[in-house]
Amino acid sequence: MRIGVFICHCGSNIGGTVDCAKVAEKAALFPDVVYATDPMYTCAEPGQATIESAIAEYRLDGIVVASCSPRMHEPTFRRTVERAGLNRYMLEMANIREHVSWIGKDVESNTNKAAELVAIAVAKLRGNTPLHSKSFEVNKRVLVIGGGVAGIQAALDCADGDIPVVLVEREATIGGKMAKLDKTFPTVDCSACIVGPKMVDVAQHPLIALYALSEVEEISGYVGNFTVKIRKRAPYVDWDKCTGCGACSVKCPSKKTPDAFNEFTGVTTAIKVAFPQAIPKKAVITAAHCRQMSRGKCGVCAKVCPTGAVNYDMEDVIVTEEVGSIVAATGYDLMDWTVYKEYGAGRYPDVITSLQYERLLSGSGPTCGHIRRPSDGREPRIIVFIQCVGSRDRSIGRPQCSGFCCMYTAKQAVLTKDHLPESQSYVFYMDIRAPGKMYDEFTRRAVEEYGVEYVRGRVSCVYPDGKGAYSVMGVDTLLGRPVEITADLIVLAVGIEGSRGAGELAEKLRISYDNCGFFMESHVKLKPVETNTIGVFLAGVCQGARDIPASVAQGSATAAKVLGLFARDRLENDPQIACVDMRRCVACGKCVRCCPFGAIEEVSVRDEQKAHVIETVCQGCGLCAATCPQGAVQLAHSTDNQILAEVNTLCRY
Ligand SMILES: Cc1cc2nc3c(=O)[nH]c(=O)nc-3n(C[C@H](O)[C@H](O)[C@H](O)COP(=O)(O)OP(=O)(O)OC[C@H]3O[C@@H](n4cnc5c(N)ncnc54)[C@H](O)[C@@H]3O)c2cc1C
Repeated sequence: MRIGVFICHCGSNIGGTVDCAKVAEKAALFPDVVYATDPMYTCAEPGQATIESAIAEYRLDGIVVASCSPRMHEPTFRRTVERAGLNRYMLEMANIREHVSWIGKDVESNTNKAAELVAIAVAKLRGNTPLHSKSFEVNKRVLVIGGGVAGIQAALDCADGDIPVVLVEREATIGGKMAKLDKTFPTVDCSACIVGPKMVDVAQHPLIALYALSEVEEISGYVGNFTVKIRKRAPYVDWDKCTGCGACSVKCPSKKTPDAFNEFTGVTTAIKVAFPQAIPKKAVITAAHCRQMSRGKCGVCAKVCPTGAVNYDMEDVIVTEEVGSIVAATGYDLMDWTVYKEYGAGRYPDVITSLQYERLLSGSGPTCGHIRRPSDGREPRIIVFIQCVGSRDRSIGRPQCSGFCCMYTAKQAVLTKDHLPESQSYVFYMDIRAPGKMYDEFTRRAVEEYGVEYVRGRVSCVYPDGKGAYSVMGVDTLLGRPVEITADLIVLAVGIEGSRGAGELAEKLRISYDNCGFFMESHVKLKPVETNTIGVFLAGVCQGARDIPASVAQGSATAAKVLGLFARDRLENDPQIACVDMRRCVACGKCVRCCPFGAIEEVSVRDEQKAHVIETVCQGCGLCAATCPQGAVQLAHSTDNQILAEVNTLCRY
């Protein structure tokens, strides 16, 4: 074999703490290496040209590039070697940036370590053989999970690009949190009026199939060919017959059902349509609060329904959909705010969350847009907003900023003044984060035009003052003195986390998630909507805090990715996959059971059962190779022999 080695300086990124010329000198002495050099930027055009000309001049049949993470540039270098006439898999990379130069300062030891990594890569490359991809058909349908504004945007953009969409929403209506908001910053325009028409577009689009009150139960397959099982939860109302007239909820005698849409700021009936602009506008029965379903006596809704849609015996239904790509847009939930015992969260009725306050402000909310204290229905005069309740707080393991709270608090304070001109709002804050377009101007207006008082500092405690109000104790860190405010209503800007069940969904999608339940993107800067499962994309707050404009932008970005993926009729697999040695296989079935992709099946070969890898399904994770007790399964380019060669090289070095 004739191997070429290229040690990249990456400017001073690697060259600053690794003697690249010396590594190249050492590499020239490794077995089968006939050429070694140290270009300044291997990924740049001159660097790639160096590789191409060296392949031709030195008749190389494999190369090692020692530079950054293969996650960044492996595809780049694969294309380079292919252009020079080599098989694209006759390339190995040694990561001497993230694994060496960025983590150590000592030039001598860094140089030695870099040389070791290059020696290992050369040892592995010596066992490589040319590999060839198989192509497979793409099912040009997309599944969007979550019908908040991000999922709606992704679904509409895909459908407008002629891609059939399956939209799965857990709640009885799409719209997500935006449907619950009163107005939106910085323009203070009606939230339902912006998202409402988009929701209608979803309902009317001929290419969008909407499953509301549904969840993804199971996902199998791979990019281009996913099979998804969806559980349609029973609404106990036949939606084909329901016209959303609301006669059932008017007559329903069970009027003490906790109202989830209104963030539990009030009660509702056991049967109801989520809200007037709901899509689909269909009634749902909350079984636990329905007298007929829990006690077997009532049946009023069935009697008054003009279309005979009520069906107490309805059961969940599982449907199967085949899609080629998946967009996760499951948004967020507020974290458990009751951990803030010092604020009386969950204990004092007039200490509420920001989302609850949105419902109090909203004309479609429980108080029809009149701000009233939950405890006694009185109009509050002094309102205190406390920011960063569960954000930027290491003491409860939430160091991150929730992104949009500074802005919506300013919005809520402005709206409060509009609703109650005699009121006075105070905002306890740590810093004001308002980097968006017109955002800083908006927070200034809150102070200058609406007289909102901003107090920089944390609140230490909130307690009832015994006269029907609350004492809010804090510190003004700018003036360096304690503050006490007597407030009628306290609104907490509660931090956010990935939506309920995000972890389980991530496992079904085989994508990573962080300790707050936010899904992880493939690359923070360069692949912000991709995940490490090819064909699965992210939109909106399910990936991390972002406001509505950013969520919409991301919804469109994922749609662009889906359309790009579906621009081709066939996709190619990565041939670095598992392969079964039939002579060794004893058909124990362990590989079949451990494969997370369902890529191994048992087949009959000359009357004997053997494991067989479905090449287009295998993702090359290597679990089967590690599990097989016979050593019958090998992973191409990570065979046992290659791994041993790498270990031996390291031991010898
Ligand atoms: C109090 C408050 C006020 C705000 N005000 C503003 C504002 O004025 N302006 C602004 O720009 N931003 C504002 N925001 C931020 C805004 O809410 C978000 O940016 C926006 O809602 C993000 O949309 P999304 O689609 O990513 O998530 P979401 O709105 O959370 O939607 C996610 C959807 O996915 C569904 N879902 C979740 N899990 C599943 C599952 N497993 N299967 C199926 N469906 C699932 C949910 O039911 C939901 O419908 C505010 C936030 C808060 C808390």
